[in-house]
Amino acid sequence: MIIVLKKDATQEVIDHVVDKIKGTGLAVHISKGKERTIIGAIGDEALLSAIPMEALPGVESVMPILKPYKLVSKEFRKEGTIIDVEGVKIGDTTLQVIAGPCSVENKDSLIGCAMSVKSSGANILRGGAFKPRTSPYDFQGLGVEGLKLLAEAKKATGLPIISELMDPRDTEVFCEYVDIVQIGARNMQNFRLLTEVGKIRKPVLLKRGLAATLKEFLMSAEYIAAQGNSNIILCERGIRTYETATRNTLDLSAVPVLKEETHLPIFVDPSHAVGRWNLVAPLAKAAVAVGADGLMIEVHPDPENALCDGAQSLKPSKFARLMEEVKKVALAVGREF
Ligand code: PEP
Ligand code: MN
Repeated sequence: MIIVLKKDATQEVIDHVVDKIKGTGLAVHISKGKERTIIGAIGDEALLSAIPMEALPGVESVMPILKPYKLVSKEFRKEGTIIDVEGVKIGDTTLQVIAGPCSVENKDSLIGCAMSVKSSGANILRGGAFKPRTSPYDFQGLGVEGLKLLAEAKKATGLPIISELMDPRDTEVFCEYVDIVQIGARNMQNFRLLTEVGKIRKPVLLKRGLAATLKEFLMSAEYIAAQGNSNIILCERGIRTYETATRNTLDLSAVPVLKEETHLPIFVDPSHAVGRWNLVAPLAKAAVAVGADGLMIEVHPDPENALCDGAQSLKPSKFARLMEEVKKVALAVGREF
């Protein structure tokens, strides 16, 4: 870490900062220039995390050298992580597509939807069983019954399944039924939950929080990795901005930025980002063009009557068309499809 002191920093101020650093066991390198003094803290930067360095008197700025995230960083692992989910290789050259309804509603509609998304080329089936609804009066999902229906849909189609886990107490039952555990945007910084899914060995799809920076996003992934589970897929799903034309603002720059920072696969969910079905296809194509490893798309056989997120859900026929268009972009950017 490099600590730049203010122009008028006195010897007393310098000594105070130096003592603080030395107190953690780190070594100090002092560089006294004509204008200002710069202090280098040498050693494991994590030891400094308990000191509010910016708040110390006389400190102008602080520059960390090592990234706060380590296990998920490119520095830690140069080659991209490939996660094998029942033979579906995530993070490899093939673009993978997760599709399905926002929530599991009943057996017939789920299996019908699963079959149709599979025939259009989707590789993984999604469906919420426990729904993080803004209103407590809205449909909350079928719970464990929903997970069982997903397992039946998997049996019928062979598609691996993903569903959102909201409560650490449900981890065991999720491990029994699902192939990928989803952590939703609202729980991106639920650190107890992250720690819990870090202890399991199922792949985890972590969605970016509604107002999370990419650094915070990666730190949440680090929570999971720190427990030993590095099978993590990151998913950009739009962030909250001042723009109201779309449900959220899809931050497509997150994809190339994250590609520079981490070895983890990156997915994009244009459905929750835009909130309107007619905007899903153009953003799905854009996501593939900027380097996403995969997409998550909401599909519902009857969006008008969907119990959740109908406005952004594609009818199966529209999803089939989207897949054809996405394929062209995928092939153009060197992906297999
Ligand atoms: C979802 O995928 O069903 C969902 C609720 O997404 P998000 O957490 O991104 O809002
Ligand atoms: Mn949804």
